[in-house]
Amino acid sequence: MIEFEGVTKVYPGGTTAVDDLSLSIPDNAITVFVGPSGCGKTTSLRMINRMVDATSGTIRLDGEDIRSLDVVKLRRGIGYVIQHAGLFRHRTVVDNVATVPVLSGVSRREARSHARELLERVGLDPALGDRYPAQLSGGQQQRVGVARALAADPPVMLMDEPFSAVDAVVRQSLQQEFLRLQQDLGKTIVLVTHDIDEAVKLGDQVAVFGEGGRLAQLAPPEELLAAPADDFVARLVGRDRGFRGLSFATAGEVAVEPVDTAVDGLVLELDGEGRPQGWKSSQGTLPTEGTWTVSDNLRTVADLAILSPAGAAVRVDADGRADGVVRHAALAEHIRRHQVARLGGDA
Ligand code: ADP
Ligand code: MG
Repeated sequence: MIEFEGVTKVYPGGTTAVDDLSLSIPDNAITVFVGPSGCGKTTSLRMINRMVDATSGTIRLDGEDIRSLDVVKLRRGIGYVIQHAGLFRHRTVVDNVATVPVLSGVSRREARSHARELLERVGLDPALGDRYPAQLSGGQQQRVGVARALAADPPVMLMDEPFSAVDAVVRQSLQQEFLRLQQDLGKTIVLVTHDIDEAVKLGDQVAVFGEGGRLAQLAPPEELLAAPADDFVARLVGRDRGFRGLSFATAGEVAVEPVDTAVDGLVLELDGEGRPQGWKSSQGTLPTEGTWTVSDNLRTVADLAILSPAGAAVRVDADGRADGVVRHAALAEHIRRHQVARLGGDA
């Protein structure tokens, strides 16, 4: 666990970058620091591995004041990933990943072979290991940066805008793989981003930083969307936070109607295996616009219901066979009960 207690950073010149920050970062979870540019996220992150020293206050790692720890030893247990990956341009990809293990005494041969495994782990073809960073795409470089930070197997990872420099499509797949990787590794991760959607998607808890380096709110993402602490946080989380909040609610309990129910004259057409083909109308067959399963979330179901020409979202089982439909009205009522329950009421 990492604890900030009354931590302030005033840079020479007088800028207060971080103002009296107190928060706990639990082990084996992702804590996201989010907020507009200049509000002290990077400074807070870099104080954890002492690349920046706090002006006052205390940071503890597993109960020990980090000022009492040897800096080299402290950093050995903390991986660090930055925007644009920060790779060494004149070293091959494999040697980039192997650098820290070699410095700490692992043989070059062993470090390189482990590096190739790590490349695979972060979703890269190990054959790319012989290239130089400039010969990779931005997304691939970012993956190498993650592999390099993982090379020493540190329990803690600090990640500063690791996915910000790539386009939206690549970012989505990097985020997805990052979450999968974290499921396996269970590291203690602190990730900085200015993107609230990324924060909500990746964070187990989210710390919202406001102007002057003050902590505006610390909460799990669903709570951030449901109950922003003040106007600043509400503006940051933005519009349709209600709709976005539905992504944290499972669709498992949504009651469905039988698939042969006619919905406004439209009937679900199935193939021989029972897989949905579309909505049959007098004008022909209209697309279902997708299907959902019990493991999806309410946002997905609501989106499908909105897109559906029948105003009904089609549920399928693990084999892709239609096993129910839910209409707008029933879904709306389910969501209402969900919100009441969430607020602690009796629906
Ligand atoms: P963020 O990562 O949220 O964009 P930073 O932690 O980088 O914010 O910066 C917080 C504030 O501290 C900003 O006003 C920035 O200009 C200032 N700052 C950051 N680094 C330095 C530095 N080395 N010297 C002086 N001021 C700095
Ligand atoms: Mg920053």
